[in-house]
Amino acid sequence: GEKILEVKNLKKHFSVGNGQILQAVDDVSFSINKGETFGLVGESGCGKSTIGRTIMGLYDKTAGDVIFAGENVHELKEKNKFSFHRKMQMIFQDPYASLNPRSTVREVISEPMEIHKIFKNKREQLEQVYELLEEVGLSRDHINRYPHEFSGGQRQRIGIARALALDPEFIIADEPISALDVSVQAQVVNLLKRLQAEKGLTFLFIAHDLAMVRQFSDRIGVMYLGNMVELTSSDQLYDNALHPYTQALLSAIPIPDPDIEESRERIILKGDLPSPINPPSGCVFRTRCPMAMDICAIEKPKWQEVEPSHFVACHLYRESSSEKESPIKLTIS
Ligand code: SF4
Ligand code: MG
Repeated sequence: GEKILEVKNLKKHFSVGNGQILQAVDDVSFSINKGETFGLVGESGCGKSTIGRTIMGLYDKTAGDVIFAGENVHELKEKNKFSFHRKMQMIFQDPYASLNPRSTVREVISEPMEIHKIFKNKREQLEQVYELLEEVGLSRDHINRYPHEFSGGQRQRIGIARALALDPEFIIADEPISALDVSVQAQVVNLLKRLQAEKGLTFLFIAHDLAMVRQFSDRIGVMYLGNMVELTSSDQLYDNALHPYTQALLSAIPIPDPDIEESRERIILKGDLPSPINPPSGCVFRTRCPMAMDICAIEKPKWQEVEPSHFVACHLYRESSSEKESPIKLTIS
């Protein structure tokens, strides 16, 4: 497909005092095709939200490039930034925190259109607000009410309506359903899916739960401690995950069938998530990896395409031909 977004060797480091550096995102590369949903998954603190915010231009990059619709996001001129923001919008985890409590639904949804001077008259703008409310499944009667008067799921619908107000092409949804009741999560996912089909939207869908991204994503990138460790199609990831971390995440997803569930082996990771301030040498996952070898502490595994469109960073799969000394040969089953 046609690429809408390219993230190339992106690094985002924060200085946290005492000369210490937090490596929130360390050399991450991926691209997103027009109209697809790309799921970005990993534990909290793995850098996935930082990637989202850096793509949006809310954070400066430390190194690398973010190319959106052919333009380098971090090199946009002021006047181009404005039109850029019409094309890319964000939906947040906590819709309550992202909505101004003193603004009515009408004001919340109208604001982006006013800033961008989309409509000449108020009447047209109001009509558009009504249309957006309908699109996200909220009644017109809600228009003069305030965010606190709504349930979590309804507030997320308001947040989605606001994100859609400028008719964007690309939406970054940062854990949009994590704060919602399980019963409401599916409704919001279905709403996002429907809007995507109707409007041809492209999504970057960020979540900490692999089961959650699967329902929605065409391809999935798995993050661990600032690094992307595996990237492939949603189906391939579930059928043939290669990275030990992905395998552990998958083994933690409950299977509804009790027979399978009982006989299944759960991979329990030892130890705690290390700090991104002093990440382990070599492979960042090695302190918790059940397969760790000597080389894992010495050399950072390369990001390589081990089969078509399936990328992984792990020494278990290193190509013997491209290495100079004593390659470790392992069969992938
Ligand atoms: Fe485990 Fe080594 Fe692969 Fe890292 S490179 S995931 S430590 S086997
Ligand atoms: Mg986050």
